[in-house]
Amino acid sequence: MHRFSIRVFGCQMNSYDGDRLRTAMLHNGWKESPEDEADVVILVTCSIRAKAEQKAVSEIGRYDAIYRRKKAPAVVLVGCMAQRTGREIAKKFPSVRVVAGPRHLGLVPQAATEISEKTPQRFFMDDDPRALTDLEVVPTARTNPFKAYVTITYGCDRFCSYCIVPYVRGRLQSRSPEAILSETRTLAEGGVKEITLLGQNVDAYGKDMDGGTRFSSLLRSVSEQPGLIRLRFATSHPKDFDEDILEVMAEKPDICRAINLPVQSGSDRILREMNRGYTSGQYLSLVEKIRSALPDVSITTDLIVGFPGETDAEFRESYDLLKEVKFDIVHTAAYSPREGTRAAVMEGQIDNRIKAARLNEINALQSEIARASNEEYTGRELEILADGFAPKGTGKIQGRTMTDKVVIIEGDERDFGRLINVRVTRASHWSLEGERTG
Ligand code: SF4
Repeated sequence: MHRFSIRVFGCQMNSYDGDRLRTAMLHNGWKESPEDEADVVILVTCSIRAKAEQKAVSEIGRYDAIYRRKKAPAVVLVGCMAQRTGREIAKKFPSVRVVAGPRHLGLVPQAATEISEKTPQRFFMDDDPRALTDLEVVPTARTNPFKAYVTITYGCDRFCSYCIVPYVRGRLQSRSPEAILSETRTLAEGGVKEITLLGQNVDAYGKDMDGGTRFSSLLRSVSEQPGLIRLRFATSHPKDFDEDILEVMAEKPDICRAINLPVQSGSDRILREMNRGYTSGQYLSLVEKIRSALPDVSITTDLIVGFPGETDAEFRESYDLLKEVKFDIVHTAAYSPREGTRAAVMEGQIDNRIKAARLNEINALQSEIARASNEEYTGRELEILADGFAPKGTGKIQGRTMTDKVVIIEGDERDFGRLINVRVTRASHWSLEGERTG
């Protein structure tokens, strides 16, 4: 029996791919082991920022040094970075035996089984952005038994000017509703309590299929599956977020009141340069609609500072938008040029020190907003789904509310996967503390 180890970098879609690869390898007779005992290390990589790639390359260098001495572990490189630079990486590191783009994962378990010193390096690249050879596996071997991700779309057609995703994950392709429902049914029957439907832009689901199912009807069908307690989805796009999604959410209490709606900038000129397809005014009116349909909703967003050409005044527009909307969480990032994207060659690239200063300023503002928003929860009684140990403190566990707030309470692993009623006793920027109410 061969042993493998798997490491996942980056986003939730990579976690899903990692769980499916793990499941497929186990089905093929492999055993999961610590990496220092593994014959093969699978790296599920990310390209979204230069830092994520540098970290993966440094890890490959470490495995390669061991491989040159011991002929193990062989490296199987998959995911976005594999697609973007996998061929060059394989030239430099002989330990890299298999390279596969995100749309060719279906070929990876067999290729891993066929690795030997005599076989050449193998490449399964997504040269055709619409081709797909996916893994037909339900991710039953997960790190969290109560929560699961299910991808509903591959790729993205939006081509935001800063984003590498359409180049490494290919064009939008929706999975069939039958395949998604069969997967969510298997997961719910296997004890999963919470499913998150994933896509780069879930709201675009079905828009690539003539007369196909829309995201709202998929959401309704999945939420009606017996056994499932909670349903989430990510990520939304303001241009594709249709009002019928709100109607289904309002009608179905099991769909979590949490929407990630990336705004990226508060400046209309920058939004145009980013090719986002909406203005800040249109974004604000969508937020208003969401809040009036779902008064208890939490809205999170993503924001880039230091996009090429961003002036101080344009940065101020982003700052003011955050003050106005008061998001629950803002995932902020300083603009990081990605080779091959339009923004990487735009004039007016911003100095790193200016980007860092803008990032600090916006993070300080959001930290205050998040604390104030969390403080409003103090004294409230809520239901959480307990899902793991708290990162700090012995005898503490954490769970999430329907609005995706993390609440830390006393408890142990027997609580995992259970709904627990809590009263919030304390709030901080990033989480809440609470006590059980019965
Ligand atoms: S919507 Fe834009 S930012 Fe999101 S994955 Fe597609 S191209 Fe990238």
